[in-house]
Amino acid sequence: MHIKKQITLLGATGSIGTSTLDVIRKNAHSMRLFAATAFTQVDKLAAIANEFFPEYLVVADERSADKLSATLAHHDKYKPTILTGPEGLSKTASHNGADTVMSAIVGGAGLVPTMDAIKAGKCVLLANKESLVMSGEIFMRAVEEYGATLIPVDSEHNAIFQSLPAEYDRRRPDEFGVRHILLTASGGPFRTLPMEQISSVTPAQACAHPNWDMGRKISVDSASMMNKGLEFIEAFWLFGVAPENIKVVIHPQSIIHSMVQYVDGSVVAQMGNPDMKTPIAHALAYPSRITSGVNDLNLFDMQDLTFTRPCYERYPNLYLATQACKLGQAATTALNAANEEAVDAFLNEQIQFLDIYNVNKRVMEQCSSTELSTIDQVLAHDKNCRELAQGAIAQVKND
Ligand code: NAD
Ligand code: MG
Repeated sequence: MHIKKQITLLGATGSIGTSTLDVIRKNAHSMRLFAATAFTQVDKLAAIANEFFPEYLVVADERSADKLSATLAHHDKYKPTILTGPEGLSKTASHNGADTVMSAIVGGAGLVPTMDAIKAGKCVLLANKESLVMSGEIFMRAVEEYGATLIPVDSEHNAIFQSLPAEYDRRRPDEFGVRHILLTASGGPFRTLPMEQISSVTPAQACAHPNWDMGRKISVDSASMMNKGLEFIEAFWLFGVAPENIKVVIHPQSIIHSMVQYVDGSVVAQMGNPDMKTPIAHALAYPSRITSGVNDLNLFDMQDLTFTRPCYERYPNLYLATQACKLGQAATTALNAANEEAVDAFLNEQIQFLDIYNVNKRVMEQCSSTELSTIDQVLAHDKNCRELAQGAIAQVKND
């Protein structure tokens, strides 16, 4: 008998969540949604439940749970278990009813449930880069210790994963002839904007990405290139390549999603239309291939492919992230925490776009030397850095 893959989707109501549901819908003969989590978007989760009938649903609190339960009360047979808050997320992420967990919550809130899935030995499809940025060393050790499988969903890392041999071992990149990881970046919506206009950009302008349709936080990160900075750190942990051998390449067409340069002169790239359903489908089916609903790439329609070096003056957050990667886990956690608070303040129009960098720099300078060896220590450090970031935000508002 053909057994369907059972999938838990953390962050089902977000951009990655929606694309994941599109792929599951297309491949309903081979996979099924076992559990879905949301935060406050109860109506959206109810619509997902009405279509996919997952056994477990998670929302932020009791009030949302009551609302969800009332919305689903008309079903005679479908009676899902509704859980709440971080405990509900943890229970769902580690539940033995699913073998595969898509980690698509945004930000540091994804760390604990992703770790729970790892500790339960799941096949974890990782979109939530922030969890790896915050706890890289502990995270990768846990993947080995608990026998979990980790497949990157972030398009660049999925491309690198596809460009490396299946037997690749991150502890020995040299043995596989890897010279460089070439991490591509679109350059975001402000790539060609005159420098003097960058200080006055609005949240709506920052969220209008030229090639990708994404959640608001990652869209702002793409505009500041903090996203590439976080991805630099993510690549370091996933593939074990030294920071000096990870090169960021601006490729505005977003057709090549990243590359691996080998010692023999080969450069292996993965290409495709910029649509997250491709890496999601790849991760869901690996090592098989399934249809994703993404149009075939038409080489004859393609514009020229161009490549340039990033300019740190335009993208100072990228520089900060490369420094944090070299400093270690306390610095990367500090940078991630400060950035989440600063992006939130920017989206709420409390600070200006360039202040995101000022807040990040201040917090990173103060918080990079703490020793972190457990997740509890990471979470305490993260909390401390967020408080410092709030102080820095108040300060830049008054400057
Ligand atoms: P999004 O904002 O669209 O969705 C976020 C999801 O997380 C929602 O389902 C929301 O309910 C949930 N969530 C938010 N805060 C929560 C909390 N405190 N507790 C529980 N759930 C919470 O974000 P997105 O763009 O889908 O991104 C999700 C993750 O994937 C991010 O880490 C992002 O960096 C990564 N990623 C996204 C893309 C993309 O194209 N959108 C590409 C690569 C990587
Ligand atoms: Mg990416």
